[in-house]
Amino acid sequence: MSPGAAGSGYSVVMPTIGRPCLRTALESLAAALGPEPEKIVLVDDRPGGGGGLPVPDVLADRVAVVPTGGRGPAAARNAGWRRTRTPWVVFLDDDVRVGAGWRDELIADLESAAPDVGGVQGRISVPLPEDRRPTDWERGTAGLATSRWITADMAYRRAALVETGGFDERFPRAFREDADLALRVLADGWRLERGIRRTEHPVRPAGPWASVRAQRGNADDALMRRLHGADWYERAGEVPGRRNRHLGIVAAGAGALALGLAGRRRAAALLAAAAAGGVAEFAAARVKPGPRTAREIATMLATSAAIPPAAVWHWARGTVAARAARPWPPEPRVLLFDRDDTLIRDVPYNGDPSLVEPMPGARAALDAARARGLRIGVVSNQSGIARGLLTAAQAHAVNRRTEELLGPIDAFEVCPHGPADGCGCRKPEPGLVLRAAGRLGASPHECAVIGDIGGDVAAAHAAGARAVLVPTERTLPAELSGARRAADLREAVSMLLDGTGGELWREG
Ligand SMILES: [Mg+2]
Repeated sequence: MSPGAAGSGYSVVMPTIGRPCLRTALESLAAALGPEPEKIVLVDDRPGGGGGLPVPDVLADRVAVVPTGGRGPAAARNAGWRRTRTPWVVFLDDDVRVGAGWRDELIADLESAAPDVGGVQGRISVPLPEDRRPTDWERGTAGLATSRWITADMAYRRAALVETGGFDERFPRAFREDADLALRVLADGWRLERGIRRTEHPVRPAGPWASVRAQRGNADDALMRRLHGADWYERAGEVPGRRNRHLGIVAAGAGALALGLAGRRRAAALLAAAAAGGVAEFAAARVKPGPRTAREIATMLATSAAIPPAAVWHWARGTVAARAARPWPPEPRVLLFDRDDTLIRDVPYNGDPSLVEPMPGARAALDAARARGLRIGVVSNQSGIARGLLTAAQAHAVNRRTEELLGPIDAFEVCPHGPADGCGCRKPEPGLVLRAAGRLGASPHECAVIGDIGGDVAAAHAAGARAVLVPTERTLPAELSGARRAADLREAVSMLLDGTGGELWREG
């Protein structure tokens, strides 16, 4: 993890497929008491786009609509938060209704978060009918109230999102993509907390076969198992569910069919009875806590027979699809290095190429990145130009000498301004990183910045790029605390190369 930026400035990101409930969600946000979000990003994930979204007038000046064309909620949320600049990003679903004091409560949640808290969850309530017992579907939705880290209302620190690459876009639906992100944020060394703000999540209307369609989530469980190991359930506070029992029912049913075809009627009948018994037990377990109307009982009987084969099919399909899945995020395409005290020894305001001396391991680190096909840039503050201590031509000559010693560098981005000039490029501002990314044909989230001070890390995070700090004895203790750190440039590059960078070094 890296230290969280100070402040409680926040943006709201809400993916939507244009459901009517969006209006209610936005109206509740507009009506809530407390500081307004700096920005509200509505991510329009309707496959064909569509008409305008129902934005209340009072919010219109801070709403940005980003179309994503049906790539699913994980990709939509990434597109949304990457349009923000605030230290906190709050993800809300488009079918929630935030509480009357939500904005004030949110600020309290964010201000009380310690620097190592990467995310704060809202308190979800699911209103259920008071005059009867809840149906199976309603009970399923009510489970959201106790789920951990669900994005119905989840605030993340920008630094935590940048460092983990945000949501894994291989999760195609609103299922498990939130638990996956939370587990990666925790693995990165952050803590996650539950806040005080309150949000209501009503039960959506659903047809009788919704529980069967929901079995597609078994494919996402298979991807979770591949990415996080078999014990991910416990770490995510989930229960494993009935998959093993479903497997037993399907095996018994398939066995009965095979034996029947082979003419072994007695054995086939026994296995068929076992499968039917399994379905009956499953149906009874779902009927018992419910309203027990004729309609609910009929729905439970029919779907309880259909769910086991659907669950097993989607689990098998997902296991095959996930068998070679690599960790998220993909490795960067571009490495951007600070220059002084990262690639070459810092000689203050140096304009003399003969004084350029590489840092230990710099050449090997750059060569390894080049061998991997990565593009390389340098992002360097040179305030000596503004101070009149060296010329732009001298800074350029030092850059040329750096290339002679370290090999070809695809882009140099230099800020010539001083601290008082108020430019947007001097680190910790993001300008140099954004410019270098643009010149190298990459999005900021496809870049990683390696530097020796907190300003390098802050510039990377402000731009949306990952960062690794390689401290020197001149790095301040405050810049070290909690930063993602490497002992030297080799280790920094290894860390960024998909965890497999170590192999590159053995060759040399
Ligand atoms: Mg430096």
